[in-house]
Amino acid sequence: MISKSRHIRGFLFFLLLMGILSCTEKDAGLLEKGISKELAVFRKSHISNVSYNLSFRVPDNSEEGIDGRLALKFEFIDEITDLILDFNASPDLIHEIKIADQIVKADIKNEHIVIPSKYLGKTNTIEFDFTAGSLSLNRHDDYLFTLFVPDRASTCFPLMDQPDIKATYKLELNIPKHWTAVANGIERKVLNEGDRRTFQFEETQPISSYLFAFAAGEFDIVERTMAGRKIRMIHRETDSVRLAENIEEIFQQHSRAIDWLEKYTGIPYPFPKFDFVLIPSFQYGGMEHPGAVFYKASSLLLSESSTLNQQMGRARLIAHETAHMWFGNLVTMRWFDDVWLKEVFANFMASKIIDPQFPNINHDLQFLMGHYPTAYDVDRTDGTHPISQQLDNLKNAGSLYGSIIYQKAPIVMRMLEQKIGDSIFQEGLKIYLNNNRYSNASWDDLIGIMEQQSGMNLDMWNQRWVKTSGMPTIMYRLRENKNNDHLNSFQLVSQSSKNDYWPQQVTVAFEKGDTIQLVPVNIDAYSVKMKTDSIYYPHHLFTNYGGLGYGYFTMGPVSMEYYLANIKKVKSSVARGSLWINYYEQVLRGQLKPELLMEAILKQLPIEKEALIIEYLNTRVSTLFWKIFTPEQRLKYASKIEGILLNMAINTTSTELKSSFFKTFYDVTITQHSIDLIKNIWDDKVVVEGLVLSEEDHISLAYELAVRQVDSTSYILDYQIEKVKNKDRKERMKWVIKALNPDPQERDAFFESLKNEENRENEEWVLEAMNYLNHPLRQPQSDKYIRPGLELLEEIKTTGDIFFPKRWLDALLSGHQSAEAANEVRQFLYKHNKYPADLKNKILQTSDMLFRSVQIQAENDSISIE
Ligand SMILES: [Zn+2]
Repeated sequence: MISKSRHIRGFLFFLLLMGILSCTEKDAGLLEKGISKELAVFRKSHISNVSYNLSFRVPDNSEEGIDGRLALKFEFIDEITDLILDFNASPDLIHEIKIADQIVKADIKNEHIVIPSKYLGKTNTIEFDFTAGSLSLNRHDDYLFTLFVPDRASTCFPLMDQPDIKATYKLELNIPKHWTAVANGIERKVLNEGDRRTFQFEETQPISSYLFAFAAGEFDIVERTMAGRKIRMIHRETDSVRLAENIEEIFQQHSRAIDWLEKYTGIPYPFPKFDFVLIPSFQYGGMEHPGAVFYKASSLLLSESSTLNQQMGRARLIAHETAHMWFGNLVTMRWFDDVWLKEVFANFMASKIIDPQFPNINHDLQFLMGHYPTAYDVDRTDGTHPISQQLDNLKNAGSLYGSIIYQKAPIVMRMLEQKIGDSIFQEGLKIYLNNNRYSNASWDDLIGIMEQQSGMNLDMWNQRWVKTSGMPTIMYRLRENKNNDHLNSFQLVSQSSKNDYWPQQVTVAFEKGDTIQLVPVNIDAYSVKMKTDSIYYPHHLFTNYGGLGYGYFTMGPVSMEYYLANIKKVKSSVARGSLWINYYEQVLRGQLKPELLMEAILKQLPIEKEALIIEYLNTRVSTLFWKIFTPEQRLKYASKIEGILLNMAINTTSTELKSSFFKTFYDVTITQHSIDLIKNIWDDKVVVEGLVLSEEDHISLAYELAVRQVDSTSYILDYQIEKVKNKDRKERMKWVIKALNPDPQERDAFFESLKNEENRENEEWVLEAMNYLNHPLRQPQSDKYIRPGLELLEEIKTTGDIFFPKRWLDALLSGHQSAEAANEVRQFLYKHNKYPADLKNKILQTSDMLFRSVQIQAENDSISIE
């Protein structure tokens, strides 16, 4: 509990000592940096009825500070304690704290402000005079916008920055006269005085702190009334043609999504207005602030030549953010460990809303290719984690995000809907939303409702899929009935360490000649026996033909060979996708030789018609080539691979696929002949018909030539820099090419420079450079970067953006495949046996491929010696 030491002059030393003692012993968890779960639980149990009355004065000059005033009101539920607020900026920015005109002496340290209980009563109003911390204000010369998720509001002003202390926010913004402003609440009044104006916004409904938002600056406003509802778009786009081309569709998509969600949930749009803001430099695709959704401008304003995929991506994004108004904003997770829940529902609803609008897309195939491979990439590793994770402090929220949340969770949610039926699922969601309006709820609350609605016991399912990590292995056993050519018995058996199973539904295909029998099987036990009287004894079979099953599905040698050789005969594209995904899993488990998979892919690529499968196969060509093949295997296959990819790049009519083939071609090229060709294409001496190369593409080609050590590397890079017109890209290139210097000593010096935090500021640049520094062709000289690169990880977590540690590891390790490199990682893990668990898991996730590759190569060698 919080110390309530009264300050008595003269006993300062004694008190100081007491303070330290009580702090280390009792309050360490509450007052640690960031927002600990302990602090959040403590505050939630003591405090209620919170409101913030905020005003900010934004000066004309973006270098000048933003003055702020805050009146915080709240009540203690019972016991009156010290009040701990979060303020993650310099303590100097807090100028004065007052309660009832009395100046309060507060303790400001460790990113917190502690107001002693002696100043406080049952109901309180505390006034703050401060300068806003600017870290999350994204200030530009003529606009600014907030981005406070997950705990960044406390970098701007003092508050209780946790999702389950929902509060109302009343905001006033004083801004330059030619600016406009938007926030969560409705604009109540605008006062113009001289060269300034003040926007007063209505008080919001209770919302979580990460959802509080405002933007101000030189913006234009477009207003439409859609189905009786006023919707506003706030933007900075000056290209009127581009605006005109997009505007109708953007408003339509929003209106359609709102209508759909009102019907599905039975709850009218829960906030008083709907605005959305298009921001040029926005960090994410979109952020769902209630009443004021922020979007990256380019994700809504598509160019004239936009593809169907881009249009669908935009519709999906709009539906996703709109769905959050109910799932996330109206009902919010208690703590960020359940953040997956709002994301999975937003995606889930988005699919339901937009799929019918794009009837020509195979949505099942898209779901399969878009979710399963990426989920497996993490779930097959020792560093994987359950969908539901522990989070001890909001400052670590970044480590929650990843493929398990974004790719595996939707798969699991789809399973749940299928298991209990879509109408029961919908009813359950309605109850969940209705019971927790403007409040918080957890996954356990929801699964409880689903159990009640369906009358099913979902505990086993929940434990397996949400609370346990990893993917199951599903095997089969079969026996022939010699009398009638039919199956005598067929069993699906789950292999898992605990000898239990992962409940799910799969579709098994039994094939004999031209007949195919598809049989749905409900895996509801460790070993499932099927009724087999009517099934022919098959020539070959595949147990995840329907593509919905999650896991690794073993295949017998006959079936494996058959499908590999005859995949073009498989008519269902979902089944083909599922087979390819499963073959790759077999390679990684040493069950299929990588060369055999490569040959099958090269055979299918020219005849495959599904774009989604072609793009997957292109990625696999690159993975097999760089991450799994030995240098000898690369040499053996290079001409063939390059020939097929180039041929496809020339002959494919689809612009998107043309570029996908061409990118894979120059990514894997190692023969002199092809390198020369790439140089000529870069130089515009050779033109591939229909292939449009942007400035970015030319830069990539120059890099790829440089990493291949062509004679004229320096000339190519210098010439390319000179040719680049865009200023930002020129700066970036000047920086990144240090990683491509032909002189190994120069590259070492560059890597050394990355140990200095200042040189890692631009993370996108760093990652691009690190990828080239650790390119597969740089092995083994780059082995020496592994250990110091890993040593930096803890520092990178504290100094970098939340996604940076994993991306740093990807760039550091994904180009390596040697036993020496694997050994470097093992040595590091051995030496640091008390390493932070979240970072260790990231290392295990990333190095899994390296370890597997070494293993596969070792097996390959032992085979060739025999
Ligand atoms: Zn979202």
